[in-house]
Amino acid sequence: ECVVHWFKRDLRITDNRGLSLAGSKAKEAGVPLICMFVVSPQDYEAHCTSKARVDFDLRSLQVLKEDLEGLDVPLYTATIEDRKNITSHILGKCKEWGAKHMFCNIEYEVDELRRETTLVKKCLEAGINFVAVHDDVVVPPETLVTGAGKQYSVYSPWYRSWVKHIHAHPHLLAECPAPVTNHSGARQKFTSLFGDSNPIPSTPPNKSLSSEDRSRLLSYWPAGEHEARERLNRFLETRIPKYKDTRNLPGENSTSLLSVHFSAGTLASRTAIRRAVAANKGSNGKLDAGNQGTITWISELAWRDFYKHVLAHWPYVCMSKPFKYEYADIEWEYNDEHFRRWKQGKTGFPIVDAAMRQILGMSYCHNRCRMIVASFFAKDLLLDWRQGEKYFMENLIDGDFASNNGGWGFSASTGVDPQPYFRIFNPLLQSEKFDAQGDYIRKWVPELRSIEGKAVHDPYGRGAMKEAERSGYPRPMVEHKGAREKALERYKNGLGRG
Ligand code: FAD
Repeated sequence: ECVVHWFKRDLRITDNRGLSLAGSKAKEAGVPLICMFVVSPQDYEAHCTSKARVDFDLRSLQVLKEDLEGLDVPLYTATIEDRKNITSHILGKCKEWGAKHMFCNIEYEVDELRRETTLVKKCLEAGINFVAVHDDVVVPPETLVTGAGKQYSVYSPWYRSWVKHIHAHPHLLAECPAPVTNHSGARQKFTSLFGDSNPIPSTPPNKSLSSEDRSRLLSYWPAGEHEARERLNRFLETRIPKYKDTRNLPGENSTSLLSVHFSAGTLASRTAIRRAVAANKGSNGKLDAGNQGTITWISELAWRDFYKHVLAHWPYVCMSKPFKYEYADIEWEYNDEHFRRWKQGKTGFPIVDAAMRQILGMSYCHNRCRMIVASFFAKDLLLDWRQGEKYFMENLIDGDFASNNGGWGFSASTGVDPQPYFRIFNPLLQSEKFDAQGDYIRKWVPELRSIEGKAVHDPYGRGAMKEAERSGYPRPMVEHKGAREKALERYKNGLGRG
């Protein structure tokens, strides 16, 4: 007999609600806790998971496995070629091990919810009590409703309600205790049941990184929950007080760089918020009091919950449909050459190119720059935002469906709480405002490193044409003013048809 916890995007022991419940149940029943993790290459394909993300998850899994060994808890792992077989595989293993209870944390995407629903049914028939709990969000979806009893689709009132709800239910931020150590020998006994040495799943060939890319990503993004907590500590000690004033400046190392950990579940947003509030001396335990930097950081983390609530309530956003269906009929350009130049960071707009090259270099990009390049993609190039959304998932190490879809919807004005379509970012003004000294541009676009002063924002328009030509930096691929007019027209026509 045993109790099983099924790990997914919750690759940590600390403050993990599903794992904590599984641990308590095992202790109460006096039986061992067994953990499992299954992957399917088909899931990677269906979700456009980036190579960087696969690598990060598997590195984090290695750390998790070692930590579980310290508790004498075995970790069963498997690669299931056909993802349709995942549920029957899990059920088969639970039966084989004599599990009476299984726990997991809920994922809100449609495929995952369906999978869990199937498993609930199968487990019920097999006499196994399967419990899936909310863990990835602080406030469970469908909890917050407007005065009219509807789901919020605008962030600000939703945020006020989110804060109020957490203040009224402080247990939502409470730490979930880690499981206790298994009775001795449990790991050995079950590991021999698993067969072979039960290694960390290997990376499918089409998701393998070159060794050069792997070591580069390793240095930017050390994996696992210990690293996540250290990174959080450093951020709380040093950068959070100034976060409100600096978070939009991509040239400064001012944000937490924790998104990869929230996405892999090596850190819970609940833990991060609880710790930030505790470190905020003037907050008196409130999320919206005390230091402005901390308040702002928590309100950014709230966006993560907001987009997951949106996804859970309007699952059609998972199906390549715009949240606002009246925007479904915009006539997009499908210009491969433009798409290629955007991906390579060769648009001739320095701030856009710096951001796209940051993605190529780090598999990550600053939030302000994600907005700039997404707006440029949809509004200046009139490319279908879904192609950009997919490219982000295929290349970001922190790829998260809800946040990515939400960010693209916002920038392309097709999503929940969007920028109105007629508010179009001017890349040059964005560049001057948020990268005033051009540090970020010079860091990521070597061709422009020797260009001094303001010309770095627009070398061909500001008297640095010769240097830009010499270094091979391209001319702007579109003219912003004209592109803006065209976008306004297309959006208006699309709305007319929609
Ligand atoms: P910090 O500034 O330190 O913020 C703390 C945390 O708050 C982040 O780690 C993240 O979990 C959350 N957060 C901050 N801003 C947002 C936001 N706008 N939406 C949702 N959550 C937010 N974030 C992802 O995690 N995965 C994605 O795939 C993703 N795609 C995006 C695509 C677009 C077009 C845009 C505009 C934004 C996207 N974001 C995504 C949100 C945001 O850009 C990143 O979370 C942020 O840049 C991560 O850096 P950080 O950890 O240093 O953030």
